[in-house]
Amino acid sequence: MPTVLILGASRGIGHEMVRQYREDGWRVIATARKQEDCDELTRMGATAHQLDVTSADSIAALGWRLDDEQVDVAWLVAGVYGPSGSGFPTGPEFDTVMHTNVLAAMRLLPIIGPLVATRGGKLAVLSSKMGSIGARNSTEATLYRASKAALNSVLADAAITYGAQGATCVSFHPGWVQTDMGGAGATLTPEQSVRELRATLAQLDKSSNGAFLDRDGTPIPW
Ligand code: NDP
Repeated sequence: MPTVLILGASRGIGHEMVRQYREDGWRVIATARKQEDCDELTRMGATAHQLDVTSADSIAALGWRLDDEQVDVAWLVAGVYGPSGSGFPTGPEFDTVMHTNVLAAMRLLPIIGPLVATRGGKLAVLSSKMGSIGARNSTEATLYRASKAALNSVLADAAITYGAQGATCVSFHPGWVQTDMGGAGATLTPEQSVRELRATLAQLDKSSNGAFLDRDGTPIPW
């Protein structure tokens, strides 16, 4: 039975990933920052661990719990949007968005990468087309854009390190999805987005290591 690790599964895209992988018979390890959300993940058949991705202690504790694990697929999903404007963010806004979307990845990928590499597995982060510099056509949510561009840089480094050890590391845009972040007017349901993301990831081979992809596998400019 293959094993998937989903980081940030309390709601939205991560929650739907847990549902679909369980439905397909995978062993699912999933994290949420609140105990009640962990309880719900357990009810869904996952092995749940509490994780606040902005806490170094919480990440270190997860590292210990995952010490003996090997995973075929890992998804780093947790993220925040922050202010929607294009003006200067406040210091606290900057810290929240950058700590959640970037620093967390810099701390988590060194823990997850080896667990995936041992299996010759796949490691994916949920970035966003809004982080693309090459396809930039708006300044809306400038802080979120900067954070996802930085996340892509972290993923590119992980691809060099863990790609050499057997992993395939990719950055994904999930589409515009009807979640708390995407809003009710988004074009895709979580069910549709996750089905495509999973299918695309399943088809990738090592030649995609270090790629930035739309949910259907179309490359996105960095
Ligand atoms: P949601 O706002 O629905 O969910 C965000 C998830 O991130 C929740 O599970 C939340 O947990 C978790 N999270 C946030 N901060 C932390 C933290 N400090 N520690 C642990 N978990 C945390 O977002 P989506 O499901 O829509 O988005 C998932 C990912 O996809 C994000 O990275 C987002 O940037 C990306 N994305 C989404 C798009 C969309 O249209 N929805 C488009 C492009 C990219 P909690 O419940 O505890 O707050």
